[in-house]
Amino acid sequence: MSVSIRPLHPTFAGEVSGIDCRAPLSADEVAAVEAGMDRYAVLVFRDQKISDEQQLAFTRHFGELESYKTPGHIRKHDESRLGPGMADFSNLDRTGKIMSAEDRVWFFKLGDRLWHSDSSFRPVPAKYSLLSGRILPSWGANTEFADMRAAYDALDARTRAEVEDLVCLHSLTYSREAIGFTDLTPEEVAAFRPVRQRLVRTHPATGRKSLFLASHAGAIEGWTVPEARMFLRDLTEFATQPQFVYSHAWRPFDLLMWDNRTTMHRARRFDRNEVRDVRRTTLAGDVATIEQAA
Ligand code: MN
Repeated sequence: MSVSIRPLHPTFAGEVSGIDCRAPLSADEVAAVEAGMDRYAVLVFRDQKISDEQQLAFTRHFGELESYKTPGHIRKHDESRLGPGMADFSNLDRTGKIMSAEDRVWFFKLGDRLWHSDSSFRPVPAKYSLLSGRILPSWGANTEFADMRAAYDALDARTRAEVEDLVCLHSLTYSREAIGFTDLTPEEVAAFRPVRQRLVRTHPATGRKSLFLASHAGAIEGWTVPEARMFLRDLTEFATQPQFVYSHAWRPFDLLMWDNRTTMHRARRFDRNEVRDVRRTTLAGDVATIEQAA
């Protein structure tokens, strides 16, 4: 079966047909998906009734799974409902019940509704994320993506020159503070200490530049905090204008794959009394942004 991709937006995002994500891919299929990722940055695979094992195997076609010593969540690994390599983005607790509205894990999860790039709070941020929709709520819960290449290209010349060599500090504490969740233990604050990231990245395959923004960014080196926060907010507003955004309305068993180096994303609201069971696998990036030329 040959692979084809139908554009979903004028600048990025495509729907793939001709791939069964449950079965091993041929080298040609892997190359076609990788080329699609370079061009579209977000790919949608419909009707993929996939198991966790199949999702892990599909993910490994495109690189190494992200693994790390420092936590990326306040929930400990041994409190997860899912096995190794699978990140639980559901609203379910370990026993399969909907989390309490007072649960601090729920508070933490709400931060995913801010625009971000996965793992920008790690020294080497993530390459691709793959999110499988197993059970979806009846209303809301879209995932929205912003094309940070198109946003970069649309910057005025002065701003483009200004951002070129800027270095930001990213931390989970900044994004959670933005929604008023500051109830972190000293251990969590220590684990979430800020990391340095370039504000402009160049994609290794396409050579295209993009803005590397996230709600995890809370400071710019050499700037005062208020000036930095205001500038980051301005840039984020600019980069998430409708012409740069694709909003994905989920169907059960959609599998979404996105490049965190060139896009931001956010979850949208849904009725918290309904189950949303979505599961993510994540591919490691290969280099710290700080070691790359802008
Ligand atoms: Mn995310």
